[in-house]
Amino acid sequence: MLTRRQMLATGAALPLVPATARAASHTGTTGTNALADALRFPLGEDMAVTVLSDGALRIGPEALQGIDAEGYATLMQDAYRDPDTFRAAVNGFLVEANGEKMLIDAGTGGAMGPDLGRLLGNLSATGTAPEDITRVIATHLHPDHMGGAVEGGEAVFPNAELTVHEQERAFWTDDANMAEGSEQFFQIARTVLDQYSDRLNVISGDEVEVAPGLTSMFLPGHTPGHTGYVLDSGDQSVLIWADIVHAAPVQLARPEVTIGFDVNPEQAAETRAALLDRVVADRMMIAGSHIDFPGMGHIAPQGEGYRMVNAAYPYRA
Ligand SMILES: [Zn+2]
Repeated sequence: MLTRRQMLATGAALPLVPATARAASHTGTTGTNALADALRFPLGEDMAVTVLSDGALRIGPEALQGIDAEGYATLMQDAYRDPDTFRAAVNGFLVEANGEKMLIDAGTGGAMGPDLGRLLGNLSATGTAPEDITRVIATHLHPDHMGGAVEGGEAVFPNAELTVHEQERAFWTDDANMAEGSEQFFQIARTVLDQYSDRLNVISGDEVEVAPGLTSMFLPGHTPGHTGYVLDSGDQSVLIWADIVHAAPVQLARPEVTIGFDVNPEQAAETRAALLDRVVADRMMIAGSHIDFPGMGHIAPQGEGYRMVNAAYPYRA
């Protein structure tokens, strides 16, 4: 359940834009950048994941719990980031495998203002049209992940099946979970579920093979049905861990720090601690929705916490 305090923190950090005010950002231009923010990583023999930037959003200390402004500033400075201007990435992932083009999360669309909403433009720069997408796979139904799956109340991806965890669907469709200030989150989640209702793939449990080589990993806490996805090809794999961290310089160093968007902050912190431990032990490559573009790499221990080790740049052979 979202508390009023969490929602206020959320509102401060993430100004949702009313539908009527949404405009040009939908076209997903790449802004002042000369090139698209899309980077393709081949995986194994027959798979590729292309990280698609949707833009970035401000996550200041007021959005976090378990750390004060001074602690936040210190950790940002340790990571050579400016605490006053730090913005977290919003990334989605195009997965190509078995002749399918699958999108893990769809960015914000027009839901969160003109600094974001660039995913679709970056997707099109890869030569992929919305009609080419066979599956949209939701890590969860927050507007920065699924806002881009709908536009003007209608599905953006006409041929895609939507995969979502049953606990996620259950949470956002139950009025009892609605708290003051959270109505717009619910509205977007419900519009998405509604627009893809005739082609929903609702998964349950901890681990489901959604497509060959693409398996879910249930990671609840941030939202009740928050789910990561493991991509496997040959001897390579990557875990798209979604919202395990939001402000990486802070939450990798101090995994107990939570964010106002967490539906169950305690469970989110437990899930984060367990997963960080596991990806270090297994030397598993990860990709994060809110880690600096392209958000791919490994996690290494550092002091009492962790640090990100960026993936090698995928030079063409
Ligand atoms: Zn998110």
